[in-house]
Amino acid sequence: MNTQTIETDLHHRDTCRLCSSRNLELALALKNSPIADEYISRERLSEQQKKYPLDVFLCKDCGHAQHIDFVDASILFKNYNFKTASSPGLVRHFQQYAKDVVALFAIPAGEFVVEIGSNDGSLLKIFKERGYSVLGIDPARSIAETATTDGIETLPEFFTSHLAGQIKENRGAAAIICANNVYAHIDNMNDVTAGVKALLAPHGVFVFEVSYLVDTIEGRVFDTIYHEHVSYHSIEPLVQFFRKHGMEMVHAERISSKGGSIRCYVMHKGTRQVGASVNELIALEKAMRLREIKTFQHFATELDDVKSRLHDLLNQIKNDGGSIAGFGASSTVTTLIYHFELGRFLSYLIDDNPQKAGLFSPGLHIPVVHSDAIYERKPDCVVVLAWKYFEPISKRHQSYLADGGSFVVPLPELQVFGSAAGVSAAVAVE
Ligand SMILES: [Zn+2]
Repeated sequence: MNTQTIETDLHHRDTCRLCSSRNLELALALKNSPIADEYISRERLSEQQKKYPLDVFLCKDCGHAQHIDFVDASILFKNYNFKTASSPGLVRHFQQYAKDVVALFAIPAGEFVVEIGSNDGSLLKIFKERGYSVLGIDPARSIAETATTDGIETLPEFFTSHLAGQIKENRGAAAIICANNVYAHIDNMNDVTAGVKALLAPHGVFVFEVSYLVDTIEGRVFDTIYHEHVSYHSIEPLVQFFRKHGMEMVHAERISSKGGSIRCYVMHKGTRQVGASVNELIALEKAMRLREIKTFQHFATELDDVKSRLHDLLNQIKNDGGSIAGFGASSTVTTLIYHFELGRFLSYLIDDNPQKAGLFSPGLHIPVVHSDAIYERKPDCVVVLAWKYFEPISKRHQSYLADGGSFVVPLPELQVFGSAAGVSAAVAVE
């Protein structure tokens, strides 16, 4: 991939992805950043990685939060290499998921299940074992090929209304269509949703999971905002959107995935009464004033405050001659490093995943080393950039703390553990 190709693959839209309104307003200004998971090898170090806008806009008509400048999906997902099965927690989550869907909607074995963005087929494998006929769709070619070889037929394509028509013709309508953590990635929501509508059997249910904007703001997980995601969903705009497509959200629930998500169940209009859960979540969103720019401005101020206190602390440690490393080498870390302007403080990043060692961070090219290195290099302070996982990280690396090290956890509140806690108190007093 060369820089020229990347530059031509930035798109802009003037209309809301859900309601097509042009009434879009900047809600949350974030610093530009490179593609978040593009950690590169030593051979590519001379390459400049381009930065792209990350600002979030709010539709003043339907309340949908979204990026309007976005990177072409073919750049982001063709070489995608995260595999669901490599995350044991996620496989357990999917076992429960399949059980819930089948129980809630009484869909008998033998019916046809389609998953959009099926990855390595982990969820479909569970449905297959329960006696359903299954088909996966995933544009990441190598993952799709492996899934097919492993017995879960997977089309290496982007899901479109055209593809939905072909599937229906060849295989019939689907009683269950799933899409997990992909509904935030899609630019052409109208075409994909028209495809879902066309492929869904009359009694069928469309189930999707996606990060919840309420949790993004309440839990301060703003670092889940990066270029793979183009939408930050909440229930109220989605309810209107599905109505426009002749469907209805009949049930919705909050789940803990990805720092806070929603699982939504959608059927053809009039199939089933809308459950109280949908209106309860809309009421929650109204109480939070999720459709008002002020809410996002307040959120930005909170983040600025954390950033400023973190800078004070890290400057103090640097001034005292201390060394600072960052913990985590993931997509969320890229947003955090760029928006909080942490690059100049961090000598290197550490990660428990041995596959990340030897790579360099997107854009700033901060070297990534395996977490064992903190016992040899003994940095004075480790900023836990993967702060949502602080609990397991601190358990695994207790001996680093016991050895005189310190952990700085930036969010949801700035917290300091270990020897730097004194510095933090001194900074706070100043
Ligand atoms: Zn809208």
